[in-house]
Amino acid sequence: MVEKKEELYRGKAKTVYATNDPKRLIITFRDDTSAFDGLKIEQLARKGKTNNKFNYFIMKKLEEAGVPTQIEELLNDNEILVKKLEMVPVECVVRNVTAGSICKRLGVQQGLELKVPTFEFFLKNDALHDPMVNDSHIISFGWGTQEQIDEMKALSLKINDVLKKLFDDAGLILVDYKLEFGLYDGKLVLGDEFSPDGCRLWDKNTKESLDKDRFRKDLGGVIEAYEEVARRIGCPLD
Ligand code: ADP
Ligand code: UDP
Repeated sequence: MVEKKEELYRGKAKTVYATNDPKRLIITFRDDTSAFDGLKIEQLARKGKTNNKFNYFIMKKLEEAGVPTQIEELLNDNEILVKKLEMVPVECVVRNVTAGSICKRLGVQQGLELKVPTFEFFLKNDALHDPMVNDSHIISFGWGTQEQIDEMKALSLKINDVLKKLFDDAGLILVDYKLEFGLYDGKLVLGDEFSPDGCRLWDKNTKESLDKDRFRKDLGGVIEAYEEVARRIGCPLD
């Protein structure tokens, strides 16, 4: 039986706890919802529970497809037991359709279907607004090796194949998403979370946002949209 021990880290949306097993952590998904590098924060009822169950469902699907993930056990509504990873301090972003920062950066319109998915690295650093970095920065600063970079890219694109289809079957377009990887016994493993907090999902017919853009843009119905996505992909929330 795993026991929850001291709090190790309180992030913007989740809290990480040590356990009696040095190789396992408990992650608690809170109702806190943040945007713009923590500048906008609100509590949204049911968000923690929804994202915890959503993330478990998606990571299970990815495991089945051969992607190594942190997942050990869904403990309760808001908590999950995971492998303790040594996180690579970068965010991996894959895009199938243009939206968000790439539109501002490259002056392109939103909604362009990309010929092949893009892959981008951003440094995890809120104070610097997560600047974009490339392979050379990652190697030169020692955040990761060339092998790890290649593996993060390959896994991120494999995840795209699995999830694009899963959401497409549910009438949704997977526009873009963010992943974080970490090392477990020297091997790269998918960590953190995959939920509508860290991806963009549009209804295929109406192009309506069913993700955190509803919060960023004050569109309302944020958690209702997350619940709708869960329902469509067959992810149980209760
Ligand atoms: P942030 O740090 O951006 O505010 P969160 O509130 O989501 O984000 O906090 C969760 C933190 O836990 C993140 O810093 C993330 O990198 C880290 N993390 C996620 N999964 C694992 C894991 N399996 N092992 C160790 N750390 C993890
Ligand atoms: N994303 C995230 N955390 C971040 C930055 C981005 O989860 O710190 C997700 C975001 O929700 C979107 C994708 O990564 O699904 C691409 O984000 P983008 O670079 O367009 O930045 P944004 O304009 O959304 O801040």
